[in-house]
Amino acid sequence: MTPPRGRGGAPGPEPGRRESRARLADPAPRPDEVGEEKRLRPPTLAEFVGQPQVREQLGIFLAAARQRGEAMDHMLFHGPPGLGKTTLAAIVAHELGVEITNTSGPVVQFPGDLVGVLTHLGPRGILFVDEIHRLTPVVEEYLYSALEDYTLDIMLDRGHSARSLNVTLDPFTLIGATTRAGLLSAPLRARFGVSLRLNFYSADDLTRIVRRSAGILGTEVDADATFEIARRSRGTPRVANRLLRRVRDFALIKADGAVTMPVTREALRLLEVDERGLDEMDRRMLEALIQRHDGGPVGLQSLAVVIGEDAGTLEDVYEPYLVQEGFIRRTPRGREATRLAYEHLGLAAPARLQGDAGGSEPQVKDAAAAEPEQPELPL
Ligand code: ADP
Repeated sequence: MTPPRGRGGAPGPEPGRRESRARLADPAPRPDEVGEEKRLRPPTLAEFVGQPQVREQLGIFLAAARQRGEAMDHMLFHGPPGLGKTTLAAIVAHELGVEITNTSGPVVQFPGDLVGVLTHLGPRGILFVDEIHRLTPVVEEYLYSALEDYTLDIMLDRGHSARSLNVTLDPFTLIGATTRAGLLSAPLRARFGVSLRLNFYSADDLTRIVRRSAGILGTEVDADATFEIARRSRGTPRVANRLLRRVRDFALIKADGAVTMPVTREALRLLEVDERGLDEMDRRMLEALIQRHDGGPVGLQSLAVVIGEDAGTLEDVYEPYLVQEGFIRRTPRGREATRLAYEHLGLAAPARLQGDAGGSEPQVKDAAAAEPEQPELPL
């Protein structure tokens, strides 16, 4: 899970905004979802749906690590939130039969925090650091020697009485997860032997995920409804599971509990998830771009101010899918609305976009195309 990065600067949500509608793409599970998310997590690589290249590569690394009886290479998983980075880290631990300790960049603030977790990992244990791009530089410094030769040089005291203590650690594997590989410092990035990118899922893969989740939750969902939920889930398993739960609840209250196509369509209409799977926040972003900034180009920070959302959240959570689906184009001068964005909102596209093919077709399912690398565009 990858909660939004607070970059500050942008104002909070407007008063009175209906949170429930705007939060379907929320990058982190809500407290009431945590338990169910755990239940829905595939425990093995064989049960992990989609991402064929990632699965194949990981399968080879796992087999090699098992054969050598050594800790696995340090690994970096990157891609938008909700695509399975945390799940894969747990799978690696499960497949290797080792312990995993979960933490995140903002939690490990001081070197002492790092020493604490590293000295408590089990043999060949895994340290999973979510949002690893948010580690402080001083913690990163300490991490380097731990990653390279499993040692830590800890400074005790300061000034005249300063001494350093060298601690030898058991071999371990660091698994870092980030929504923004471009924000990782070059030295940290260089310490990962393996870097795997997770892409948005196809509707077919999400259909399998929804079917599997429905089975675990004991909810009957017919085939059409399963596909409908899948195709409107922003290519993201977390959103698919979230929509499934919402539709299931709707079916329970408004119908006889069975999740059929009409029930699903009605529930998604109430949730304001449209035909292309965009939610209210996506549409607000497109509206702000088109109506307030004449279609762009415009910096993300300006959009954030108009929408009343954190610029980091827009960049990590909303923009990648809108770029991938061809609604927004990232240019060196900022974000631009495509013809598809105008059409989707029922607006006439300006003449300059008449020949614009950029957004007319859904683009390749490739989060990399949407994931910004450094240098960052102006926010
Ligand atoms: P991330 O760490 O990338 O934000 P998570 O690993 O927390 O995403 O995944 C979010 C939810 O989506 C999990 O509850 C998990 O059940 C589900 N999920 C993610 N990837 C898959 C997958 N490939 N197959 C089945 N379920 C998945």
